[in-house]
Amino acid sequence: MLSRVMDVMEWEDRHGSGAYGKRPLAIVRGAGCTVWDEAGNSYLDATSGMGVALLGHAHPAVVTAITEQAQQIITVAEAFYTPRRAQLYAALAEVLPGSLGRFFLCNSGAEALEGALKVARLLTEREGLVAAQRSFHGRTLGALALTANPKYRQPFAGAGWLPPVRRVNYNDLAAARAAIDESTAAVFVEPLQGEGGVHEARVDYLRGLREHCEATGALLVFDEIQSGLGRTGTWLAAEAAGVVPDIVCLGKGLAGGLPMGLVAWRSELGGIPRGSHGSTFGGNPLACAAALATLKTLREEEILPAVRGRGEWLRRQLTARQADWPLVRSVRGRGLLIGLELRGRVTPVLRRLQEQGVLALPAGQTVLRLLPPLILSAAEAEQIVVALDAALRD
Ligand SMILES: *Cc1c(COP(=O)(O)O)cnc(C)c1O
Repeated sequence: MLSRVMDVMEWEDRHGSGAYGKRPLAIVRGAGCTVWDEAGNSYLDATSGMGVALLGHAHPAVVTAITEQAQQIITVAEAFYTPRRAQLYAALAEVLPGSLGRFFLCNSGAEALEGALKVARLLTEREGLVAAQRSFHGRTLGALALTANPKYRQPFAGAGWLPPVRRVNYNDLAAARAAIDESTAAVFVEPLQGEGGVHEARVDYLRGLREHCEATGALLVFDEIQSGLGRTGTWLAAEAAGVVPDIVCLGKGLAGGLPMGLVAWRSELGGIPRGSHGSTFGGNPLACAAALATLKTLREEEILPAVRGRGEWLRRQLTARQADWPLVRSVRGRGLLIGLELRGRVTPVLRRLQEQGVLALPAGQTVLRLLPPLILSAAEAEQIVVALDAALRD
């Protein structure tokens, strides 16, 4: 039952929410950077399943960790202690900047943003929020209030559903300084915007925000859900600027494909009041085991330095070919989060790329986003360039 491709699409379309614009491709299996459809056609997954499969699909370390943990115990509520969670806290404390030592585990990126909103409010006893243009922080109402794109916000903007947010231009330090004051609880920034079109924060912008937050007592929150965990070659993208936030949000690939979000904040700020936040599934040992295996593999296989090299090679290749690709306006990004700004809509290019056996993402209407697994090999990077060449020449 429901094995034929047409059945799968028909049933998903009939019963799905309608919220997703879907591509006519049913994926049944993945290994490394490759996914397969029912007919056995393979695709290079330069989406990492939406930035999630940092170690590629079905990485043996993650599969083993999940299998062994599932046989032991899958659920232990945070009201009890459990070794896998304790080990994950220890591992997180090792990879994140030293001052970020308080953790709240949840189940998605948006949930991490919601958590950060509450933590900031609880720790500062202030209400003011500042966020950037072009930002993307998730689809729940709190996270949506911080998100800039009117396409996502407009249907919920009236009736006071979304908390008020002061919105400032990204990379405009003077505007941020003017918006942040003694009533500001938190300033939310993506050090490298993904969904908003692959735009990078300038070093002096991040440093200036750090200084001004310190001066006003506002908390600086980095959303590194897409840019973190080695995506740019460092654990946090903000490391390159030498800036440590007060709060960081992680998600996407944190648990190797299982749902997990994290709010981490500076130990010196202390914990939040008992009962002020919680999550039924948050910190469950199954997801913790997967996250532990992910962090361990990223470290032991020295994947982060490789990301830097691979990303630089890719961007050099893409930039060099720009002369042959009149549709491409610019090449942006860092590590393995790369954007090609086009002089037209991205959808037809994504379709042609898929015909060439490569899956990529949009980032807005005119930016093609490459977000491959961090384990991308040299040959696979080359395959992306060749496929782009075919898709962008006609
Ligand atoms: C994906 C993403 C989110 C939302 O994560 P979900 O797990 O989809 O809720 C938030 N912020 C950034 C920067 C993201 O890339």
